[in-house]
Amino acid sequence: MDDLADTDSKHSEPWADDGNLILIAEGEEFRVHRSILCSYSQIFKDMFHSSSAEELVDDCPIVHLSDTVDDVRHVLKALYDRSYCVAGSPQLPLDVIGAFLRLGKKYEISCLYLEAKDRLVGDFPSTLENHDQIATLGCRIEGFNSAIIFRVINLAREGDVQIILPAAMRHCSLFVPPEDILISPRNSSTSLTDADRQACVIAASILQTMTATTYSWLDPKTPTSPYCQGHKKCSQSKQALLATLWFPSAQKDPHAPWNAEWEKGLCTDCARNAKASHNTKRKEAWQALPSVFKLPEWDELLSRCQ
Ligand SMILES: [Zn+2]
Repeated sequence: MDDLADTDSKHSEPWADDGNLILIAEGEEFRVHRSILCSYSQIFKDMFHSSSAEELVDDCPIVHLSDTVDDVRHVLKALYDRSYCVAGSPQLPLDVIGAFLRLGKKYEISCLYLEAKDRLVGDFPSTLENHDQIATLGCRIEGFNSAIIFRVINLAREGDVQIILPAAMRHCSLFVPPEDILISPRNSSTSLTDADRQACVIAASILQTMTATTYSWLDPKTPTSPYCQGHKKCSQSKQALLATLWFPSAQKDPHAPWNAEWEKGLCTDCARNAKASHNTKRKEAWQALPSVFKLPEWDELLSRCQ
């Protein structure tokens, strides 16, 4: 067995010269300390305890892992090098977050699983208040763009963090063109399931209708307040604002926050009512978000996430 390991495997980092255990993933070897890994994971403890010592490399027992070498590398580096992932550091690549979530869940390494989960929930929150803060606080996934949203959605299901699905699928529906959702490659780690693909495309038109509701205070024909102090002026202001917000491209985000600039040109009563209406409707739209994707309600998703 030594020959097999020596010829087909190669050393990978971390490689501790005084390590007493060799992990092999996809043909690559990691020399580590059994006690360090066991201190993080009962699963490792049980696995190493039950593994036979028939296979040896440099007098170290070998344990074969079925995980990807990249996932194993990210996790071992994090466990060995505190600077590789400092909790609370602004951003981590999605590859690292994915490795922490998958292997953190599988091997019950709670510190890594929670680190990954916190970052995903931070970028795809369950409350409108936290969603509003992202614009200020920034994303916690490094290099986040719409191209990786499919991977985030798959990761939510794989890592049992379904609480992020409404916000992640919302992002997909709002910002990824339907044709890109439909023609994206199938059967790869970066492709959506057919069910999620369909849900995101169907949701786009539902979100569009919700957006019209959130902005219904903009209807120039309907007074925003029965106490309007200058109906004609307010109506004209709303008409002008409608043209600005809907042309050349229509507003599509039913959860967009109120913009104080919109109050200009409206009388005091209309401005107050418009703001109240907008905020009420955007909250209702957020509350209804899981149902847009036929997901369980927020309370149910939250209870599953505990
Ligand atoms: Zn008015």
